[in-house]
Amino acid sequence: MPFRPEHSYQEISDQLFAPCEPTPVQAPQWIAFNEALAAELELPDNLWLSEHGLQIFSGNQVPDWAKPAALAYAGHQFGNFVPQLGDGRALLLTEVVDKHQQRFDIQLKGSGRTPFSRGGDGRSPIGPVLREYIVSEAMHALGVPTTRALAAVATGELVQREQAEPGAILTRVAASHLRVGTAQYVLALKDFELLKKFADYVLQRHYPDAVSDEQPYLALLRQVMNNQAKLIAKWMSIGFIHGVMNTDNMTLSGETIDYGPCAFMEAYDPATKFSFIDKRGRYAYQNQPAIGLWNIARFAETLLPLLADDPDQAVAIGTAEIEGFQDIYEQYYWQNMSAKIGLPVETAQPLVTRYLTLLQQQHIDFTLAFRYLGDANQERLQKLFNNSADWQVWHADWLTAIGERDITALKTKLNTVNPAYIPRNHLVQHVIDAATEQGSLIEFNRLNKALSKPYLERSEFADLMQPAAKEQAVTQTFC
Ligand code: AMP
Ligand code: MG
Ligand code: MG
Repeated sequence: MPFRPEHSYQEISDQLFAPCEPTPVQAPQWIAFNEALAAELELPDNLWLSEHGLQIFSGNQVPDWAKPAALAYAGHQFGNFVPQLGDGRALLLTEVVDKHQQRFDIQLKGSGRTPFSRGGDGRSPIGPVLREYIVSEAMHALGVPTTRALAAVATGELVQREQAEPGAILTRVAASHLRVGTAQYVLALKDFELLKKFADYVLQRHYPDAVSDEQPYLALLRQVMNNQAKLIAKWMSIGFIHGVMNTDNMTLSGETIDYGPCAFMEAYDPATKFSFIDKRGRYAYQNQPAIGLWNIARFAETLLPLLADDPDQAVAIGTAEIEGFQDIYEQYYWQNMSAKIGLPVETAQPLVTRYLTLLQQQHIDFTLAFRYLGDANQERLQKLFNNSADWQVWHADWLTAIGERDITALKTKLNTVNPAYIPRNHLVQHVIDAATEQGSLIEFNRLNKALSKPYLERSEFADLMQPAAKEQAVTQTFC
């Protein structure tokens, strides 16, 4: 199959995007190119780590297959509605349709100012580009729905933040960039036909099976809700904290998007948050499911005109639907957490709950506490808990619950569920420091390599499994 660029989103309405060219940069240089992803998308060979590719992924050249545009969207930021956000530093280059008929967006992020930039410079320092590259690819390898990183290039220019920092551009691939905030933007245009056209587009693109549903827009709400509940349950099961769950950072496809101040929890504590701007912990670890529901309620509001002619009836239908969120979420959460200890849900629930309490009390690393359960002998696990009496009781109960089963097979299975490697904050920070201060990508490449097979322990990466030592700990993250 040949490379198939298309521009379907731009056919809905001129009101949903602004055509815009990337701003050229001085001296582009490759940081990374994701060959595996390029192969999946069947991108033309001449883009791969070539001068031509460099010109395109730096925004210096717009190829004839691209139709660059900044997409419009609105959003609730920390609970406050902002009617116009939009791609202020990003441009959709094209959509591509792969051999499985799956459609993807290819987007430049950090490519210069757009009509939606407001006061911003449209640029990105190298730090956030490396973070998004590492974490989004790690999430993919962990089995979490996510946008992907196709390319990263340095611009050869400085970006002014607190200090001047080297600039970079990320090329992001997504099932789409449609967000709850996009639907909010469309609703605010107060054009019923356009809202319908938009909802039909989302259905066609992401939920084609629901198109023929008796109530397609209710089915759309149900499916987005299901995918988001599933996604957040997955985040919770690996200790991922998104950090900015604004409605403009919540996709309609159910992919994780926008890796800003995101971080992984180390010692288990439900109140964990890292984002510097999240003063009150609105987006803390334990709040993520409730925020997911809050965001889905905002999405439901955008669909109300399509749910019923009578506004009261529409509200009743939408409300009844989203009342199911909590149950759906919990079902996914318990499925994930039960698999982490290798037991069916009913047996697992009390044991998981007790284990989490133990982790919190003893400040134990969430990732290792589950990973070490899969060890042939339990020495590392025992040591992690200092062989405490409470742990011994729990461990004995866990073994009893496992019972007669083939322990070796079970442990092998646990090691396919509980990762050895996650993008720990101090590791990501170390990579960013090495790249920013010494221009070195050695650590970046090494970390990506370990994270590309997160369930496969390798002795050469032993140091990358461990939580931060006290002096290395990164307790705050910034956008
Ligand atoms: P985010 O926090 O990344 O979700 O972005 C929130 C909004 O701010 C979006 O509309 C972005 O496009 C915009 N934005 C963030 N950084 C910049 C920048 N450097 N220049 C222009 N717009 C930006
Ligand atoms: Mg965003
Ligand atoms: Mg961001």
